[in-house]
Amino acid sequence: MNLESLQNIVIQCRKCPRLVAYLKEVSRHKPKRYRDWDYWSKPLPSFGDPDARVLIVGLAPAAQGGNRTGRMFTGDRSGEWLFNALYQFGFANEPNSFRADDDFKLDDCYITATIRCAPPKNKPLPEEIENCRPYFLKELDFLKSIEVIIPLGQIAFVQTLKSLRLKGVEIPSLSFGHGKMYSLRTPISQLRTLITTYHPSQQNTQTGRLTKPMFHKIFKMVRKKLSG
Ligand code: SF4
Repeated sequence: MNLESLQNIVIQCRKCPRLVAYLKEVSRHKPKRYRDWDYWSKPLPSFGDPDARVLIVGLAPAAQGGNRTGRMFTGDRSGEWLFNALYQFGFANEPNSFRADDDFKLDDCYITATIRCAPPKNKPLPEEIENCRPYFLKELDFLKSIEVIIPLGQIAFVQTLKSLRLKGVEIPSLSFGHGKMYSLRTPISQLRTLITTYHPSQQNTQTGRLTKPMFHKIFKMVRKKLSG
């Protein structure tokens, strides 16, 4: 198995009946602005540069975003923020992406998620997170150049720590906040640093909890860490 064949398995996964039913429901009740779209409505594969040094871990696909377009963060507001920041700091070739078949490409960066099917109200159940965890654990085996990991938001942070501990990484109790940097001693390839950030969700960006300078600061930290 390799990263690509793992993603083919992910796409066919039906382990979470609630989410399988929800995705069908979403594609049956499209909002007017997307009525011409043929929704992806399956689990989303992770994507990016397989030799990336930076790994971003999202929470879950958005029902009208990645779940519609077929690529994580593509076509939704969180993606706009994320892709724009990645572009500004040289990790993407375009400042935004609207469709999975466009020319958007990540460079030295790989994007995955805690779960790969859009959950109702963006809230996965604990058992759904557990069902999806093996895919992330397997990805860590294939992504051999990762140096810095960035979970987006508190849930992804907690779940990333749990996954890393399952991989044998000894991690003390770490607190979540925006812009914290932790050194890791891991047996996983080159992974040595974890950086925390608030999730670029609309809830955070529209309320000013997360501003563009705050979000860009994260990628400044990443660049500094990589060049260091
Ligand atoms: S969330 Fe993950 S485990 Fe659950 S059905 Fe989707 S891909 Fe499978």
